Amino acid sequence: MVVPNGARDGLPGGRAMARGYAARLGRRRSLRPVVVERRGSVIAGRGLFATEGIARGERVDVDAELLNHSCDPTLAWSADGAGLEAFRDLSAGEELTVDYATSSADPDMLVRCHCETYRCRQMVTGDDWQIPQVQRRYAGHFAPSVQSLVDRTLGQPHSSS
Ligand SMILES: [Zn+2]
Repeated sequence: MVVPNGARDGLPGGRAMARGYAARLGRRRSLRPVVVERRGSVIAGRGLFATEGIARGERVDVDAELLNHSCDPTLAWSADGAGLEAFRDLSAGEELTVDYATSSADPDMLVRCHCETYRCRQMVTGDDWQIPQVQRRYAGHFAPSVQSLVDRTLGQPHSSS
């Protein structure tokens, strides 16, 4: 899905905002910078958007807390838990999103989702990491704190009654 250029150009100050969000891919060899821009999102408020294509698995060094939630996210945590990576191939203009279930197990988290994807859970909570489909989908792609919770449940498939 590609957002038409008109949407970006129509936003006042969009170009200036983009400068503050030059991100880098990884810190070792592939230092191709991925430039993202912050602008209005159909999901909620403002979001971060890729300004160029990003291949699945490429690291995207952005702060997860700046990202909108989607139940069908474009980013997920890297297997080593050090940061975020593209969860599929992305086109320029796509919003960078993360499934909050992969980032937070906060029991107070409650987000009404309007991502409108066919995977939408509508209410996103800090318990969603316990959903078997969520665990399967993001296996190895949770934030370290959440991954350890997932691993613990998988390590004890039956609780004693
Ligand atoms: Zn959703």
